[in-house]
Amino acid sequence: MRNDGPRNILRRSLQVRHVDAGSCNGCESELAAITGPVYDAQRYGLDIVASPRHADVLTVSGPVTRQMAEALGRTHAAVGQPRLVVSVGDCAAGRCPFRGSYAAGEGVAAVLPVDAHIPGCPPAPAEIVQHLRALMRGPGPGQTAGQRG
Ligand code: SF4
Repeated sequence: MRNDGPRNILRRSLQVRHVDAGSCNGCESELAAITGPVYDAQRYGLDIVASPRHADVLTVSGPVTRQMAEALGRTHAAVGQPRLVVSVGDCAAGRCPFRGSYAAGEGVAAVLPVDAHIPGCPPAPAEIVQHLRALMRGPGPGQTAGQRG
């Protein structure tokens, strides 16, 4: 029996749980738009869910502030296997303007294994949908998980 892991399991449906780990809410506004009537991500099998226990992928925005680090870790642990982590926005990639302050962290990759990153400040809804759909397809031949799409 063929076993190609998350790529095969998640290719038709991807349930997303989002965590705001200290963002300015710009990334959330764009992410929230993906299930609206314009971008309609549900037609691709993508949806945003309220519980990490219903999710396949954890999207995270913001630099991961000290106050949010533990909650993010607990949410990640509550997502069943196989689970993927996607950092959303430049702050989540460690490029927060407040990086180095007493409260701001170094980005998602400093606390969780990140499978893919969606760049932008903030990324547009169409780009978010495009990246999540690429995640469903999985890495192509010769690509790593970080090169999906
Ligand atoms: S990447 Fe830009 S829009 Fe997103 S949380 Fe950071 S500052 Fe806000």
